[in-house]
Amino acid sequence: MGRTVQRQLREGLARIDNSQLPGKLKMDGIANSYIRKWLGLPRCFSNVGLFGKNMLQLPLKSINLGYRQKKTHLLLELGETRDEAVKGAAVMVRTGRKWRAQYEVDQAVSRLQHKEILGRVQDSRAGLGWGQPVQFWSKATRDQRKAMVVEEVSQVEKDHYLVKSQLSFLIRETYDTLPCPRNLAQWFGSEGKCFLCSKDNAGLQHILSGCNISLTQGCFQWQHNQVLRKLAEYL
Ligand SMILES: [Zn+2]
Repeated sequence: MGRTVQRQLREGLARIDNSQLPGKLKMDGIANSYIRKWLGLPRCFSNVGLFGKNMLQLPLKSINLGYRQKKTHLLLELGETRDEAVKGAAVMVRTGRKWRAQYEVDQAVSRLQHKEILGRVQDSRAGLGWGQPVQFWSKATRDQRKAMVVEEVSQVEKDHYLVKSQLSFLIRETYDTLPCPRNLAQWFGSEGKCFLCSKDNAGLQHILSGCNISLTQGCFQWQHNQVLRKLAEYL
């Protein structure tokens, strides 16, 4: 049984290798569909939930992120090599059309240099100088610089998941297509009552800021504090 599975896996990977897929994104799609299947998640469960830094951060890394990290690492290795033969070979790191390793590395270096100009800023209510010391670009060694660039490139990909989920909420909230009781009643014919105060026809406004029970339970205060916490992370 074990051997059969191993053979099937090897054959499957070989087939993917020979298929000349236009990019790793298709691979990502295939792998993600199986991850959903193995975890017993619905097909509509988005990549944001799988790989994003949300309420529940799963110990998973997307193929896309791994691909970008490896390509960035390879570009840095080739660019900073001490071997004259490798330097003279002028090896091109091939990537897709949308994501280009050289451009991303340049951007990451520029951001790291900008961070150094900004210096160490306090991003929480903790006292001045509290927390881990910040590694600055100009004072970093070659290996540290490589690690910093790879981390910076990875952060862009991680932020992408975060921003997409926020944007999705914002758009659906603006056009009133979030699953509030009123919309659920319209879509599936369920009761359009608020789950807490049983108010009929409870829309998004009621859920977010108009429910009396939520007010007495302190839900709105919690919501308010969560927004402040997020703002404090970015400021
Ligand atoms: Zn209510």
